[in-house]
Amino acid sequence: MAEHHNIIIIGAGLSGLYTAWQLQQKQQDVIVLETRDRTGGRILSAEYGSSSQFDMGPAWLWPDFQPRLQQLLTQLDLDIFKQFTSGDMLYEKSPSAIERHSGQSSHGQSYRIAGGGQHLIETLQSQLPQSCIHLNTAVKSIHEADMSIHTVRDGEACQYTANKIILALPPRLTQQNISFDPPFSKDITAAFGDIPTWMSGHCKIVFIYEKPFWREQNLSGEVFSQYGPLSEIYDATPVNEEYYALTSFVGLNAQQRKQMDNEQLIEACMLQLQRLFGEDSKNTLDIKIKDWSDDTNTSTELDLSTPMVHPQYPDTLPRSFWNGKLMLAGTEVARQHGGYLEGALESADEAVALCGLQVTR
Ligand SMILES: Cc1cc2nc3c(=O)[nH]c(=O)nc-3n(C[C@H](O)[C@H](O)[C@H](O)COP(=O)(O)OP(=O)(O)OC[C@H]3O[C@@H](n4cnc5c(N)ncnc54)[C@H](O)[C@@H]3O)c2cc1C
Repeated sequence: MAEHHNIIIIGAGLSGLYTAWQLQQKQQDVIVLETRDRTGGRILSAEYGSSSQFDMGPAWLWPDFQPRLQQLLTQLDLDIFKQFTSGDMLYEKSPSAIERHSGQSSHGQSYRIAGGGQHLIETLQSQLPQSCIHLNTAVKSIHEADMSIHTVRDGEACQYTANKIILALPPRLTQQNISFDPPFSKDITAAFGDIPTWMSGHCKIVFIYEKPFWREQNLSGEVFSQYGPLSEIYDATPVNEEYYALTSFVGLNAQQRKQMDNEQLIEACMLQLQRLFGEDSKNTLDIKIKDWSDDTNTSTELDLSTPMVHPQYPDTLPRSFWNGKLMLAGTEVARQHGGYLEGALESADEAVALCGLQVTR
């Protein structure tokens, strides 16, 4: 017998969890199916020491432009703090041409979530019944006739049915991994494949230290490098300052990274840090690395050549199919803030409204 629920959400990233949270508040019978063994999707914090979290996915928010996220953080009683930007920034044109600039960060005034992005996910999850989230459950196909969802759960075939289904995952993953009966038109299928999954081809590294040696040199930690391998570096010290950290995106694209192993990559990064910040940079306590292009629950082959600038997300794609029984959420289908955390919430709000329910503010 298939397990039946009024609304089933696919994907327990920020968008799926927030949709579930909204629907729960409206006493809806809702569950979330998630292929990974954890919630959060692209939100992932790595721990070091007893209580320090380092963001391997999203780190920054801009409350002035992201009202939903700001409001959700307030509702959940979560604190934010300013990204550290005091001091000079460096601009590396080449290993022998490193310029030092004083003044404002080029990053705008961004903020971070105290306790890391995962703290947001854990808090949202803690407000949902435990039975609402089914981990290790990969959705394989969805059938309109009986609104059935066919999954592989803990290695076994498992079936659900629902009155309404919300897809809260990147459209490229939907197109690649889930089959639909009846199938979407060629145009819709192509449109799904054309939407890049934001940041999915990137690799993020965090270097953890006992002391903030860059701050001691009146450097903010912010670097832009044309030479690499680290392209953009920022201070990633957690709010508790138990440890200090620098974080960076790797400037090499996913295909280039696949030509080298992590040891070679880290060696090249360490040489760059020494050029920029001196010998103290060698004293890492730990180095965390997350290559999202290797993660098949985020990235597809198409994302190996992910855009380096923010894409224009399409406004014309329908957000509802099968006479309103199947809906889209997920940051890539947000109309205004596509790609960002704010977009994950924006798209969820639209899905809740499409379910005929009012979004809670
Ligand atoms: C390195 C990096 C840095 C970033 N930096 C920022 C930042 O600073 N600020 C910002 O605003 N945004 C940033 N982002 C973007 C931000 O992470 C996303 O906007 C947001 O997390 C997307 O949430 P989502 O729920 O829409 O999608 P996802 O987090 O991708 O969630 C989708 C979920 O669906 C699950 N899933 C996939 N396939 C299936 C299936 N077949 N069955 C069941 N479940 C499935 C996945 O496992 C995943 O949990 C960054 C992203 C990355 C990777």
